[in-house]
Amino acid sequence: MSEIKTVGILTSGGDAPGMNAAIRAVTRAAIYKQLTVKGIYRGYKGLLTGEIQEFKTNNVSNIIQHGGTILKTARCLEFREASGRQKAHETIQKEGIDALVVIGGDGSLTGARIFAQEYNFPIVGLPGTIDNDLFGTDTTIGYDTALNTIMEAVDKIRDTASSHERLFFIEVMGRNAGFLALNGAIASGAEAAIIPEIWQEVDQLEELIHHGFRKSKNSSIVLVAESDVTGGAMGMAERVKKDYPEYDVRVTILGHLQRGGSPTASDRILASRMGAAAIEALLDDQRNVMMGIQNNDIVYVPFSKAIKEEKPINRDLLNTLRTLSI
Ligand code: ADP
Repeated sequence: MSEIKTVGILTSGGDAPGMNAAIRAVTRAAIYKQLTVKGIYRGYKGLLTGEIQEFKTNNVSNIIQHGGTILKTARCLEFREASGRQKAHETIQKEGIDALVVIGGDGSLTGARIFAQEYNFPIVGLPGTIDNDLFGTDTTIGYDTALNTIMEAVDKIRDTASSHERLFFIEVMGRNAGFLALNGAIASGAEAAIIPEIWQEVDQLEELIHHGFRKSKNSSIVLVAESDVTGGAMGMAERVKKDYPEYDVRVTILGHLQRGGSPTASDRILASRMGAAAIEALLDDQRNVMMGIQNNDIVYVPFSKAIKEEKPINRDLLNTLRTLSI
């Protein structure tokens, strides 16, 4: 019999569509198992300020279709310090919380791992990030919605792009991972994607200029992952203007619109399955694991692996993109 009676739930770091569906699933699955649920507001910050509320089933009614997170999210510098985590632990004791479900990205799960070890406290994680950059799971909550948003935006840009002869660089999120850029490019029929995984290997801009264009095409669209190293879409445009002034270059930065919107069916289903699985996992005495999905089955991925291991890009996708953009 599990010792867990009260579960705390929080969303942390960058928000992602589907986080609400995950909050709903965790809450309802916990109540179904006769547990008490406490919603912690603004990520780890709520553990420091005590902004915590008991959740009943109706607190999570009518939220599955909404982007963002009803629990709000925040970045909390104090939680990076031992003193901040001690304060968080005191709140947890005061509130009678026996276990935590943390929904967030790489940073949030790193914080969860450190806290769980420091206080021998049960935590399970859900991968909530549009970037899809967590190892051990085929996809993350929010990724599919962001991909669809990118696709729709690029479709619209293509309408105007094809009225002129232009080279469009469209910047998407994914500082350390090119999943959105690469799959977004395939989904929208773009000519190329410039992604962080192969920056060291090839000069992707040179490759694009010399091999990537069919000369008869009157416009080209390239998806570029945001980057401090290359300067993202702006960086690419500046290089082209300098070295290949014959091209008429345009830049669009999609920015925060990629995080918004109603989650797709895939993200809602993923979040619902993972949320329910998180409660099962806790009651099954699982600790320090992130829920993942592999080949459509839920799996438990140790935090250490999910955070530390690089999630490789599928190189077949690069070839597919190249083949189809002739
Ligand atoms: P994401 O979860 O989207 O990757 P961040 O990297 O901003 O977002 O992390 C979210 C929060 O997780 C941070 O504001 C901090 O509270 C906590 N966190 C991140 N890294 C650590 C760490 N090394 N130690 C403790 N807490 C951390």
